[in-house]
Amino acid sequence: MIRLEHVSKCFGGARVVDDVTLTIEPARATALIGPSGSGKSTLLSMIVGLTTPDDGEIEVARHLLTPLSAEKLRRLMGYVIQEGGLFPHLTARRNIELMARETGWPAERRAARLEELLQLTRFPAEALERFPAELSGGQRQRVALMRALMLDPEILLMDEPLGALDPLIRADLQDDLAAIFARLRKTVVIVTHDLAEAGFFAERIVLMNRGRIVQQGRFADFVERPAEEFVTRFVRAGV
Ligand code: ATP
Ligand code: MG
Repeated sequence: MIRLEHVSKCFGGARVVDDVTLTIEPARATALIGPSGSGKSTLLSMIVGLTTPDDGEIEVARHLLTPLSAEKLRRLMGYVIQEGGLFPHLTARRNIELMARETGWPAERRAARLEELLQLTRFPAEALERFPAELSGGQRQRVALMRALMLDPEILLMDEPLGALDPLIRADLQDDLAAIFARLRKTVVIVTHDLAEAGFFAERIVLMNRGRIVQQGRFADFVERPAEEFVTRFVRAGV
């Protein structure tokens, strides 16, 4: 479980996350949606411990976040940042294995885990020696996912994994991700702009606007019982 209590973050005087209180249930997927600039990535970055809140408290799997070491955080949470964030000078294999190498896993253990992940993500083994620039957008996202899952974290956070993909690759990866989430049974938080996509991935949807949570619920709740005018506009715009 992930619990946020009155969490706020300011950048240069602007409150980009504003008094967010939120509970994310374990072993299921939650989608975080909202327009560009609403604070989704900042919220995710605070959950993984890369950004420190100005106010409030974050608890992840019963650990209070602030005193946790970087090492512990990494094992607890796999994070796919917006745009994937792969190291361009490392092959797909090196990108995926990076943290396991740093953690001191022997080669056999890394190879066994990699094999599981290749099957899970349907990534072709022969493409492992390629650099990120030599992969398709969908393949890059699969590599980013494998990297996040390498140490088998309890929680997976993905920031717009379908962001910059063409419609066909997008549909393909969307189907695969949904199947992967169902198999993993991990706590998954997925960020997207798109309400329909959120509904596809997750039963629970959290909508943000201007740093605040506007409404939480199932896909149908947003359509049938919008909490405020903004929700109606968001649903109608299909953004
Ligand atoms: P998008 O859908 O475009 O990815 P988002 O909901 O993820 O948007 P954030 O990236 O969380 O939005 O940004 C929220 C606001 O905070 C934006 O106005 C952004 O410019 C600002 N912001 C984010 N990170 C920083 C930073 N490190 N320094 C200053 N401002 C920042
Ligand atoms: Mg973002």
